[in-house]
Parts: sequence; C-alpha cells; structure tokens
Amino acid sequence: MSGDSRPVELVADLRNVIGEGPVWLEDEQRLVWVDIKGHHVHWLDPKTGRLEQIDVSADVGAVAPTTSGALIAAAGNGFQALDQKSGRIKTLAVAEPDRPGNRMNDGKCDSRGRFWAGTMADDETPGAGGLYRLNLDYTVDRMLSDVTVSNGLDWTADDRLMYYIDSASHRVDVLDYESSAGTIANRRPLIQIDKSDGMPDGMTLDAEGGLWVALWGGWSVRRYRPDGSFDLEIKIPASKVSSCVFGGPDFSDLYITTAASGLSEKQLEKQPHAGGLFRCRPGHGGRPPYRFGG
Ligand code: ZN
Repeated sequence: MSGDSRPVELVADLRNVIGEGPVWLEDEQRLVWVDIKGHHVHWLDPKTGRLEQIDVSADVGAVAPTTSGALIAAAGNGFQALDQKSGRIKTLAVAEPDRPGNRMNDGKCDSRGRFWAGTMADDETPGAGGLYRLNLDYTVDRMLSDVTVSNGLDWTADDRLMYYIDSASHRVDVLDYESSAGTIANRRPLIQIDKSDGMPDGMTLDAEGGLWVALWGGWSVRRYRPDGSFDLEIKIPASKVSSCVFGGPDFSDLYITTAASGLSEKQLEKQPHAGGLFRCRPGHGGRPPYRFGG
C-alpha cells in the first residue's frame, strides 16, 4: 500500500473512549462530534480553539443538526432531542423496543431531512443490529436487518446511491436510493477491505464523489474513487480511527475522530494522542451536511 503522507495535526487531545460522528455545523462554524462510550458531545471552534462538552449520560452514537438549529441524537434507546445546555435527552422515538441489548451507533441525515442511524449489540452479537430511518413525523422504519456493527453511510450528490458500512462485513456496500420515498434496494459490495488493513468504520463523501473511509485498527483514512478503486491513504497517529468529515469555512479541512477504547497503557505510550481529534487538508473538499427536518 503506498502511503500518501499529508500533514496531520492534533486539534483536540481529549482521549475520547470512542470519538465518533463528526459533523460540521455551518451556521456556527464549529465541529460537533460524540464520544459514544464517554457519553459526551463535544464541540470545537477551530477559529478560537475553544472546546465545549456536555454529558448526555447515555451511549451516544451520532448527532445531527436540525433545521431549527437544535441537535438531534441517536442515543440510548433511540432517537433523542438533545438539550445543548444541560445535556438532557428526550426520547422522540424508540428504535428497537424489542432489543434492549442493542445501542445506537453511527447516523446521518438524508437530503429530505430524514435521520438514518444504525444499531449494534453491545456485545457485538452477529446480525443483531439494524439500520433505521427516523421520518419527519417521528415514525421509525427499519431499513436493513441482520447488521452486526452498523457504521458509516452517505449518499451521492445526485441522490441515486447510498453507501453503507457494516464493519463486521469488512466491506463498503452500495445500494440504489430513491430519495423522495427514502427507499434503498439492490445492496451489493463495492469495496472489500483486507482484515490486516483494519475495519471500515465511519465514512464521508467528497465533492467529487470520492469515499473517505476511516479504518478502525488501521491507523488511517483512505480515499476510494466512486468505482471502488483505491486512491490514497492518510496515516493517523492513532490506531483506532473511527470517522471523518469535511469542514471549515471552505469544507476542505478533513476532521478525523479516533478512540482510546481497549488500548493498554503500553499501547497508549506508543499512541499518546489516541482518542484525539485530528485534522488535515487532503486536497479535496466536502459539502455541507443535511439537517433533520422534523
Ligand atoms: Zn463508527
């Protein structure tokens, strides 16, 4: 594998247990992300370097901006309104009333303002999770079943395709997408990641349709072309790279979350900034996130 080395800087040395789900908030010009097992939502204002955080007292898999300026979270037992001052969450919809051993994981809004988020068994029982769609009227539909670790997802700019990662499959899959109904069909493999290169986790698309995939256990983020072919790799000084997103005033800064979960003291000596938030300018740009419209 050829390493395409770009300067990567540490921008928040927070030792997140599982840093995840970065989203650029355009109105505030801030990044928001979660620490799933640390139960925190974090914000960074890159202009001032100011960090803020709140404790939501629950596993929080993802957050998304809403059209009203608030945040919605995939946390605890489902989809939650999040009070950004107190950290209190209020259940909007329970995702899986029948599966108490599951938790919410990665999620993202689609172009019509629906919030998609997946689940996984906390003990990673194979096939116990699913992918759910929170509709604008707060009803929930199960969109995929038999998922083990529901993770990164994103849509092409023309809304014709959705990409999806179940980390346990070691693949990035592609599905046909119908945006007005929000339906998916014809799931098929697009990218196979070798086990020795890490597990695919979070994912974002750039403005040219390239896929940026975080590799958990792989010390890197990779770019794949829309046809699934490998393009480049950015090395990160932390092994458990969990997700990435474009942000900044021109959407050309790539923000990268990592995890310290499960690392021994000895491993942490070798990667002292594990669980930190990193940033680089990889020469590609992204696009603004969609917001929940309910
Ligand atoms: Zn993830």
